[in-house]
Amino acid sequence: MKPLHVGIVGAGQLGRMMALAGYPLGVRCTFLDRTADAPGAQVAPILRGELDDAGLLLELARGNDVVTFDWENIAGEALAPLEGVTAIRPPRLALETSQDRIAEKALFTRLKIPVAAHTAVDDEAQLARAVQRLGLPGVLKTRRLGYDGKGQCTLRRRQDVARAWAQIGGPGLIYERFQNFSREVSLVGARGLDGRIVYYPLAANTHGEGVLRVSVAPYANAALERRARAYLRRVMLALSYVGVLTIEFFVVDGRLIANEMAPRVHNSGHWTIEGCVTSQFENHLRAICGLPLGSTRALGHAAMINFLGRMPDRERLLAVEGLAFHDYGKAARPGRKLGHCTILKARAGERDRALRNALKSVQWC
Ligand code: AMP
Repeated sequence: MKPLHVGIVGAGQLGRMMALAGYPLGVRCTFLDRTADAPGAQVAPILRGELDDAGLLLELARGNDVVTFDWENIAGEALAPLEGVTAIRPPRLALETSQDRIAEKALFTRLKIPVAAHTAVDDEAQLARAVQRLGLPGVLKTRRLGYDGKGQCTLRRRQDVARAWAQIGGPGLIYERFQNFSREVSLVGARGLDGRIVYYPLAANTHGEGVLRVSVAPYANAALERRARAYLRRVMLALSYVGVLTIEFFVVDGRLIANEMAPRVHNSGHWTIEGCVTSQFENHLRAICGLPLGSTRALGHAAMINFLGRMPDRERLLAVEGLAFHDYGKAARPGRKLGHCTILKARAGERDRALRNALKSVQWC
């Protein structure tokens, strides 16, 4: 059997975990990234340069059977010339849609997936009108290139308009009504080249300052999970999707409100490495390589903790039974995702106790 070759644009931790999942499958990955010591480059070869460098993208496409991403903000125009050269999966349309919060919400709305009331904002007067029309509190966000709470500002009073504008003002923003959610959940699924869809169990997520800190899964709520699956399926079909896709939701009064989607493997799915028969990383590779998808069955009750800003004491955490440790090999910087750990237990109560215990060893900064 010839090994399959996958080109990955971006060599962050997502790419690295993808490449690691590829080895047992006989799938070999090559990265395109700016830095030689990016997390992915520590485990597979790398082409060095800008992620939208036309020459390097073409080289990546020519050398591989399929090209995929660990970062979704690559300009669509940079990818268009590759389409005749090799397969681009997930499709460019999925990337382009997820790059713009307004386009993303328009797709959700077209597919009858509820979203927060929102409007595009390009100047301060429009923001004042948006606040008047949609009410307070609300969140002002950049339409593009916003992630992990970056480029966001919460408005609670009329007077906050000027402050918010001074903070992130400029063309290309969105104002959306603040969601008084009881929980945040996410659903990760994969669609194969043959159209088969598999779904992971729902995960419940806790964010701090807009960044994911803890995921707990399976989040046992059959009604919400059914609904989330139906929504994910609609998006996959609408985009002729191939690969792993994630949707993050707010739970408001027992209803799901879609916040955003990620056309890639997702931080809230890291627990699947130890917690499921087949991880999200392996299933993404299987999907984009046209291989049969693996079982998404949970092997127990999992909790994932992100390491942000500083790495915790490895020995103390490894002493927690059933804990797996992941160090991405990155230099420490405030707020930066440096690694994570996953706890897997047979029962939810045991998992919750171990999570509380492990959290004592983790400091976010
Ligand atoms: P995002 O970059 O849109 O994923 O936002 C990051 C986090 O900020 C979310 O996971 C929420 O915790 C919070 N957030 C974003 N938008 C809203 C909103 N409309 N209402 C309440 N919280 C929000």
